[in-house]
Amino acid sequence: MASSLPTLVIVGRPNVGKSTLFNRIVGMRISVVQDTPGVTRDRIYAEATVGRRRFMAVDTGGILFSDDDPLIEQIRVQAEVAVAEASAVLFMVDVESGPTAPDWELAHRLRQLKVPMFLVANKADNPGRVLEAQEFASLGMGPVHAVSAVHGHGVDDLLEEALKTFPKDLGEDEGGELRLAIIGRPNVGKSSMLNAFSREDRSIVSSIPGTTRDTIDSFVTWQGRAVRLIDTAGIRRRGKVQGSIEYYMVLRAQRALQRAECALLVVDGMEGLTDGDKRVAQMSFEMGKPLVIAVNKWDLREPPAGNLGQASMIKKDFKRIVEGELPSVGYAPIIFTSAQERAGLNGVMNAVFRAVENWNFRIPTGPLNRLVQDAIFDKPLTRKGNPVRIKFATQPETCPPTIILFANHPDLVHFSYLRYIENQIRKKHPMEGTPIRMHVRGAKEKD
Ligand code: GDP
Ligand code: GDP
Repeated sequence: MASSLPTLVIVGRPNVGKSTLFNRIVGMRISVVQDTPGVTRDRIYAEATVGRRRFMAVDTGGILFSDDDPLIEQIRVQAEVAVAEASAVLFMVDVESGPTAPDWELAHRLRQLKVPMFLVANKADNPGRVLEAQEFASLGMGPVHAVSAVHGHGVDDLLEEALKTFPKDLGEDEGGELRLAIIGRPNVGKSSMLNAFSREDRSIVSSIPGTTRDTIDSFVTWQGRAVRLIDTAGIRRRGKVQGSIEYYMVLRAQRALQRAECALLVVDGMEGLTDGDKRVAQMSFEMGKPLVIAVNKWDLREPPAGNLGQASMIKKDFKRIVEGELPSVGYAPIIFTSAQERAGLNGVMNAVFRAVENWNFRIPTGPLNRLVQDAIFDKPLTRKGNPVRIKFATQPETCPPTIILFANHPDLVHFSYLRYIENQIRKKHPMEGTPIRMHVRGAKEKD
């Protein structure tokens, strides 16, 4: 599972000393584990260790602004990066200059942030300046921490306090049960699969009533992992329903998916995909849930024993058809199964486990930015003579992985280009089974 380190974000208007402090944090008493090569201004993030605490430091002053980007714009983006990234924020101001309009603006924006915030008055190089630093209390951002980034005064105490606020085990999962919804039309073999899962190691623990009267969850353990199969009553109630079968299936699946961490869509290998299958697959995408597709009853398709070449040919054809009909869920692994012969079940469960792991995956900021910049370099985006630049990329969320790109012309970054960037990211991190959300934000005020 991806480790997600707590992130300390340094914000502040230009020239207050952000990069000086950043370099001190990542470069001195603290050992640098890994950082991004490049000139000083490119070095936005670096992993640092203080004592036994590992974290990521972000210098928002290193965001690639151009000279014509107005200050207010830079401040807005800094604040957004802080929102997206920060476990704690160091808000830097400059004692030499005293409070300025951009400081007030930034304070205003940061005040809405719910993470621990430290007001750092820099360039407090001597006792007189330390006293002067107190005038920043008027910003209403809590106590003033007077430091001198150049000389190092006050930096240790500041860091100690900031690191104390980090959550203990950020990013570690609690190792609970995995919640899986088995969905699909009647007769495709869902209950057979459920039975096969539970019979495999005779480990159905219990069936307990779920949240509504007619939902029943079942529990199995698979390779030592607890799995809750959501709403198995819906699976078994086949035939009793009035009205459109597909409608019922979609409705039921929606409710099950809300509680699930992963969808297992079972389709009939003899029949292929129906509209209902497509709708449910699309729904899992829209709900941001991982998806694994089981093509069941494959025993009926398998050619006479021994003809392996032909068998894999048919599988390839079938995969191509499914992928063609479900373009929006190209990330979903397709596994061929026979619930009746209990074939392919390990493959299904492994795909499910992997998909959920990927759903929780977080690409660290440094590598993500490199991937994005490489993608843009390979296929530059220009419209109406405007070069589109992406100044920063971040993945603030998992479940599903959500990536935000800050671009100078966000309206020009179209769906197809986002798709391209997503594909480039997936080349390096396939993240099989999980959807990825891609968003663009402006790094320049819209007119
Ligand atoms: P940034 O634009 O916020 O990243 O600021 P820099 O780190 O590039 O610093 C801007 C200027 O302030 C540089 O000339 C630094 O040498 C100077 N500076 C940074 N920290 C201190 C400090 O603690 N005391 C003094 N006197 N100058 C500082
Ligand atoms: P559900 O409505 O999706 O729960 O489907 P069932 O599990 O009740 O299966 C419907 C029918 O398909 C039953 O007659 C099963 O025996 C049969 N079936 C299920 N899985 C397989 C399979 O892998 N191969 C074959 N040949 N038949 C299957």
